[in-house]
Amino acid sequence: MNILGYRTVENHTLSFELLVDDEPIGKVVGSSDTAIPYWLFKNGVALSPIARLGSGTEKRVVAVCACGAFGCSCIRCDVVQSWDGNIVFRDFTRNLFSSNSVFNLLMFSFSAVNYDFVVTDIFQKIQESKIIQQLEIRSAKMRKLKS
Ligand SMILES: [Zn+2]
Repeated sequence: MNILGYRTVENHTLSFELLVDDEPIGKVVGSSDTAIPYWLFKNGVALSPIARLGSGTEKRVVAVCACGAFGCSCIRCDVVQSWDGNIVFRDFTRNLFSSNSVFNLLMFSFSAVNYDFVVTDIFQKIQESKIIQQLEIRSAKMRKLKS
């Protein structure tokens, strides 16, 4: 069993780098791709809550080019819940549009509790940053009104 983790990175925008056993996932699979911009979580391209994972194979973006554009370069893999309830990352591919180019036979397995904790935490952080942005916009407007 592996341990899923993440760290928050300010890379052009709020971004999250996934960690497997404390190592960046890009590094573990042998790629220079790194943190995932927050909006890829919001539109379901990156990791989703367990309830929203499909039952079939569904490639998810798990690492993105350092420039922040997933169309430039990214690592994707199937994220599926196995019969024993664990969440499995497998069939890694570098290609955004084809699932045929599996380049890495590594497979990671995380407990559902571990996966759920990480995903919930990431979505929480995205929500918090949105609230902070709104507060900043509001206080900027207030300053404008006062001046
Ligand atoms: Zn790039």
